[in-house]
Amino acid sequence: MKTAKGTTLIHHGQLIDGTGAPPVSHAAVLITDGIIAYAGPATEVPAVPVDLILDARGGTILPGLIEAHIHLTYFNVTELQDLDIKYPVEYVTLQSAVNAKTALECGYTSARSGGCLHNIDVWMKKAIEEDMIPGPRLSASGREICGAGGLMDWNPDYRKIGMEGIVFIVNGADDARTAVRKLVKDGIEWVKTYPTGDAASPDINDHHTLCMTFEEMHAVVRTAHNHGLKVTGHCRATEGIRNALKAGYDCIEHGTFMDDQCLELMLQRNVPMCPGLGFEKFSVDRGKEFGLSQRVIDGHQETLEGGAESCRRVLAAGGTMGLGGDYGFGWTPHGTYAQELTFFVDYVGFSVLDTIRCATLGGAKIMGRAHELGSLEKGKLADVLVVDGDVMRDISILENRDNLLAVMQGGLVKAGRLARA
Ligand SMILES: [Zn+2]
Repeated sequence: MKTAKGTTLIHHGQLIDGTGAPPVSHAAVLITDGIIAYAGPATEVPAVPVDLILDARGGTILPGLIEAHIHLTYFNVTELQDLDIKYPVEYVTLQSAVNAKTALECGYTSARSGGCLHNIDVWMKKAIEEDMIPGPRLSASGREICGAGGLMDWNPDYRKIGMEGIVFIVNGADDARTAVRKLVKDGIEWVKTYPTGDAASPDINDHHTLCMTFEEMHAVVRTAHNHGLKVTGHCRATEGIRNALKAGYDCIEHGTFMDDQCLELMLQRNVPMCPGLGFEKFSVDRGKEFGLSQRVIDGHQETLEGGAESCRRVLAAGGTMGLGGDYGFGWTPHGTYAQELTFFVDYVGFSVLDTIRCATLGGAKIMGRAHELGSLEKGKLADVLVVDGDVMRDISILENRDNLLAVMQGGLVKAGRLARA
């Protein structure tokens, strides 16, 4: 991805640097050749010749947001079943390109895939890196892995429809290794698995059901780590979280029903978590109008409460969390990602600073790129968001992309009002 040439000064704004440090009210950010040269009080900014001045108009300067669990290929579906049969790969690819552009316009300068159809995000990543299409810097995951009969194995055999476009269905450790080896060849970074079910499937794979054996999960980890890939998994049930941590997972998605032992295992290896919890609240609030049954909604309510408690415990214990998750359903359409932040402040009870830290530096840690992304600190890539308004006072202003003055990647203004001016 190209970076800016020359020196840019962003001034006249409040700085939230993403590290969790208190905001600096009269701040400046200096960018040289796409890299942050200075971020701090305006009075101490180095006196160097500047090519471009960007006026934050008394608003907020913060790191570009990071979606830590994005599904670029989900096309605002209302039924999971639609994912693998409704459209061919050609059309889903086009939709994904639109979703990537939308994410960037919403202030998301990086994203980690939480699973995708076919192998689209691997190639989307390349297209974005080569500036062919606009979008967040990506970590790709390709297709997912689930045990036979598990959450993602939804097509009954009599339909004779395979699931290869979305998920590898495995029976036993050998199958699990075979699936990972295919993903190795596909060029992914993250292996996304399904250790547990979900409230979405109340009859046979609910949020307390296991969808993979420990042996399958362990085989996934051993094979993936051998090839330098990382492993994560959809973990709701307590035993699923524990199995994942014991098997050596590198990240936990959701981490819904976390007990003391799970928390301890997580902290021992500093395994990050991406709660993706807003989805539960929005499923409860909006599920009826999209035809979700009362049983499903009740399950989401239980997941919401369990998940919120787990998040508060992980935060208090000093664990690492990234924010984002499961946008691309009818009731959580692409473009509404930033409501996750408002939800974490209003419902879960995180402070604005903790929420932004998770949504920036936390995501960068999950991506393994915290040395170059996720905070506004000297030496990092200038992925910067300039917001018209006080984010500390009202985080929900991030939900409206018209409030974004500039969305920068590597010092280049890619979206926001100033890009259109
Ligand atoms: Zn997901």
